[in-house]
Amino acid sequence: QPYVSLKNVSHSYPTDKGKSVLALQNVSFDIEKHQFVAVVGPSGCGKSTLLRLLSGLMMPTEGQVNIFGTAVTEPRDEIGIVFQQPTLLPWLNVTENVVFPVKHKTGRVSSQTRSQAQKMIEMVGLADFAKRMPNELSGGMQQRVGIARALLMDPEILIMDEPFSALDALTREEMGFELLRIWNESPKTVLFITHSITEAVLLADKVLIMSPRPGRLSAQIDIQLPRP
Ligand code: ADP
Ligand code: ADP
Repeated sequence: QPYVSLKNVSHSYPTDKGKSVLALQNVSFDIEKHQFVAVVGPSGCGKSTLLRLLSGLMMPTEGQVNIFGTAVTEPRDEIGIVFQQPTLLPWLNVTENVVFPVKHKTGRVSSQTRSQAQKMIEMVGLADFAKRMPNELSGGMQQRVGIARALLMDPEILIMDEPFSALDALTREEMGFELLRIWNESPKTVLFITHSITEAVLLADKVLIMSPRPGRLSAQIDIQLPRP
């Protein structure tokens, strides 16, 4: 059975006067373990809605969202999210930001976690910046701290919501290659949400194309490109 599966998922949001907005209509797809899947579509096609359903922040109004064969009913530790904005805590340095979720969850940070955090920081190319504060870093570097932070939790599934959208084109491309390098080093199941078809084709094994109003899956493309 598939690692992640959506079966006939529809979602509508209630609005005022008892009306509702249909954000997703009858969406079905599967994701296999360690697959890198990109979701592409214009604004309003339901990408954020999809993210909320997969991460357990909401339940679909119809259909089923299953992860490891069971319905997603609440947020869980196996799922890590990298948001559009890196949302670092400005008063903590890079290392402290990376270990923050572990500290928050377990109340302490073991020396093993610290050395693992150092490894993640090196992996995203910030070894020389471990003690720097967020305001000393560029946007791309801050986003890489966000990625290291998500990876330290060692999630089974990493959901990335337009992680590079705040970056300039050149940094975006560099970050794309960086992400592939990280992914090759430690494969994960990734769901990557983006506006950019180019980015999707470059990074993903499978591309899901959404059409807007209401969000529907209009194509699924399997990609087999040699990885750099
Ligand atoms: P994106 O950058 O993903 O395209 P939007 O700018 O469309 O996001 O929306 C930003 C946020 O506002 C989203 O979290 C979305 O849930 C929320 N939102 C969008 N449309 C509505 C709406 N009609 N009513 C309430 N919230 C909305
Ligand atoms: P995307 O992330 O692709 O821009 P969203 O999932 O944010 O798309 O939105 C899909 C549709 O659902 C849009 O028409 C949006 O206006 C609507 N929507 C999103 N969030 C809300 C909300 N909280 N309340 C009402 N409508 C919403």
